[in-house]
Amino acid sequence: ISQLYAPLHWFGTYYRMIQTNFIDMEKMLDLFKEQQTVKDIPGAPDLIIKEGNIVFDNVTFTYDNRQTALNGISFTAPAGKSVALVGPSGSGKSTIMRLLFRFYDPTTGSISIDGQNIRNVSQSSLRHNVGVVPQDCVLFNDTIMYNLQYGDINASKEDVYEAAKAAQIHEKIISFPDGYETKVGERGLRLSTGEKQRVAIGRTILKNPPIILLDEATSSLDTLTERQIQQALANVTKDRTTVVVAHRLSTIINADLILVIKDGRVAESGTHEELLKQGGESNSNGQGIYWEMWQKQLREDNDTDSTTTLGENK
Ligand code: ATP
Repeated sequence: ISQLYAPLHWFGTYYRMIQTNFIDMEKMLDLFKEQQTVKDIPGAPDLIIKEGNIVFDNVTFTYDNRQTALNGISFTAPAGKSVALVGPSGSGKSTIMRLLFRFYDPTTGSISIDGQNIRNVSQSSLRHNVGVVPQDCVLFNDTIMYNLQYGDINASKEDVYEAAKAAQIHEKIISFPDGYETKVGERGLRLSTGEKQRVAIGRTILKNPPIILLDEATSSLDTLTERQIQQALANVTKDRTTVVVAHRLSTIINADLILVIKDGRVAESGTHEELLKQGGESNSNGQGIYWEMWQKQLREDNDTDSTTTLGENK
């Protein structure tokens, strides 16, 4: 009997394997789809990072020759500093990130890192030097160890533990049934958004890039998670040039430079304090977008009895 069943069992196993790979394959193809629009110039040299200074010079960008997403963006993200992008939905924040990672090239204008136009350097060297912490990172259907090690396949287990500690996820991992050998992902232990983001931070710590692009989670997080993520982010962004699409107050307050993006333009820029000073009275002449956003945020925090303690930061 068992001999009869064996082929069926065998087939079942393969069927599942094919299914698994198919799903992962689809994800991979989705990722690569976005990258096909840009090609390396023949003999493109590698990007050489000296300090990690990023300059956007009058960048415009149009998706499919139709909608203008960026309308002349200029700014500098100084080496080792953090720049926060804020602004209404659809204003162009994610587009700035995509261009910086070179999913697309600007329609006009240029983006350079330490004086090298990113259009002219090899994509692999650019991506090697730029770490991305997405809002919702994709986990492989594998162990948590594998998922972290993905940031640097040569990392030792000890390196992974260190990175997980810095990413504030180590304690959580050792509480799992099989610790670092626990299977995660769609067919394993499901992690929360906050946990997944910390895995992404851990990967990035292992990758150790001089430049970091961070897409902050929009979903509201509980106090502990929020604090852990902030600490993890502080650990990963320290001394690295960081560009972050910001949604939470804490990031915005501490950023070295805030850019308010509206209709594909930099509508306002400065530190939190500077932007708040610009606000209020000047609203009538179209200024004070940041001030308005801040007031709205404060009202929402009061309504939801938020855990964000503004007092601490003032
Ligand atoms: P959100 O805060 O909602 O994420 P955002 O500020 O990041 O918004 P973008 O995603 O950069 O905004 O979008 C800028 C503009 O470009 C929007 O008008 C959007 O509809 C358009 N857009 C974004 N992605 C594409 C795309 N792949 N194809 C065509 N248009 C796009």
